[in-house]
Amino acid sequence: MADNKRYNSQLDGAEFATLAVRAGYERTQEHEHSEAMFLTSSYVFGNAQEAAAVFAGDEEGNVYTRYTNPTVRTFEQRLAALEGAQQCVATASGMSAIFSMILALLNPGDHIVSSRSIFGSTNVQFKKYVSKLGITVDYVSLTDINEWRDAIKDNTKLFFLESPSNPMNEVGDLAALVELAHSNDILVAVDNCFCTPALQQPLKYGVDVVIHSATKFIDGQGRTLGGAVLGSHELMEEVVGVLRSVGPTMSPFNAWVMLKGLETLKLRMKAHSENAMALALWLKDQPSVNAVHYAGLPEHPQHELAKSQQKDFGGVLAFEVSGGKEAAWSVIDSTRMFSITANLGDAKTTITHPATTTHCRVDPADRERAGITDGLIRIACGIEDIEDIKRDLSFGLSRI
Ligand SMILES: *Cc1c(COP(=O)(O)O)cnc(C)c1O
Repeated sequence: MADNKRYNSQLDGAEFATLAVRAGYERTQEHEHSEAMFLTSSYVFGNAQEAAAVFAGDEEGNVYTRYTNPTVRTFEQRLAALEGAQQCVATASGMSAIFSMILALLNPGDHIVSSRSIFGSTNVQFKKYVSKLGITVDYVSLTDINEWRDAIKDNTKLFFLESPSNPMNEVGDLAALVELAHSNDILVAVDNCFCTPALQQPLKYGVDVVIHSATKFIDGQGRTLGGAVLGSHELMEEVVGVLRSVGPTMSPFNAWVMLKGLETLKLRMKAHSENAMALALWLKDQPSVNAVHYAGLPEHPQHELAKSQQKDFGGVLAFEVSGGKEAAWSVIDSTRMFSITANLGDAKTTITHPATTTHCRVDPADRERAGITDGLIRIACGIEDIEDIKRDLSFGLSRI
């Protein structure tokens, strides 16, 4: 039988790239090299006494996949190793990760301060469903610490943010936000979907909870939905309780796909970031482009902060063309290779018009104030050759 103990103990002190391909796995007695997938909803016991002992919690063992599954557990342990978290709880999607975290850690009457530019469905979840729990949310600028301070009330329990923001690439100061929150007994949760742990590890800055939509860069090839909540054992124990009784667990098949995604995460994030940086520099030189929003550009207002907090600047950027919506739509429609979709985090480059897609329900005045003008286009750079990416944009840009 393969010596699993030896296999895992070799990883003590291992680096990110090593953990990404090896952490969390215990081989079965078949000696398989690639991770086995356990597609099973339940588990059997040797006899009634063993069943009773496992149900009573006196013996370790799997009971039911809503509670535990070996493939999901491997994904959780590997992602926890990459984020530097004590524990990871995998969920069915990014949205259920956020909702499970709130159900687990907050109570009726509590208050959340959130950055204003968050994922559209997160906004809807807060306004329509989190409000039903008697939890209120106020929105502030990601980059203005004074707004966060002024928004704190006696019942504020959570700061929630995405950094960098979508689509404007604003960057929040994690260390400063954590200091402010913790001095007021407030937890900090960061949606780390855009960076992934390959580029940013929020827990290192004292952040309490990391949220992922694993659907994006962690899968990396647009195949499956999944999410994750990460943090201390103490906090994650509460999240596990919600998963068991409410049920938004990750499917073992999706966990297996995500596990394979993690193996190449570092390489892909490097390729996404290199393409986005090269594209941002090229776009800056195009006469029909008014502005490029990418934290990798030295003139970006939080460039230095992004540089200190992130290993690289990621794959998502936005730029503004002159000529408003008509011009933006014509650039999008002139592409021949890009996928016209609001999705991101895929090997294939995607292009979208935020004002009429991801941010169509935001009040037009708020949208303008946030910089999401009618001429703004968002690109989530894939890992195709950069020359082909530039060429696909040049068809439309040359006609403005
Ligand atoms: C996509 C996304 C989510 C939601 O994730 P799903 O897996 O689609 O439920 C949450 N946050 C961010 C930043 C996202 O991009």
